[in-house]
Amino acid sequence: MHYHGPIVRPQTDADSIFVEVTVGCTHNNCTFCNFYDGYPFRVAPLSQVEADLQEAAANFPHAKKVWASGFIVNRV
Ligand code: SF4
Repeated sequence: MHYHGPIVRPQTDADSIFVEVTVGCTHNNCTFCNFYDGYPFRVAPLSQVEADLQEAAANFPHAKKVWASGFIVNRV
C-alpha cells in the first residue's frame, strides 16, 4: 500500500481499506490548518491505485469497506 502525508482513520474504520487516490488539499490555505503542510496536492497515479487495490484484494479479502483516501476541495 502507498501512503503519503496524513490519513484520517476513524476507530469505526479500523478494519476498512484505505486506498490513496489523492495527496494534500487543493485549497491548502485555511489560516488554522497545517494538516497537509509539506504535501502539495496531487492525484495518485492510476498504476499505484490499481496496485493497491490488487494488494488489498489479496491480503484483506474480507474487508467490508474500501475508502478512496484523499481530499479534494471544489472551488465554486
Ligand atoms: S480545506 Fe481543509 S484541509 Fe484544506 S487547508 Fe482548509 S481546513 Fe485544511
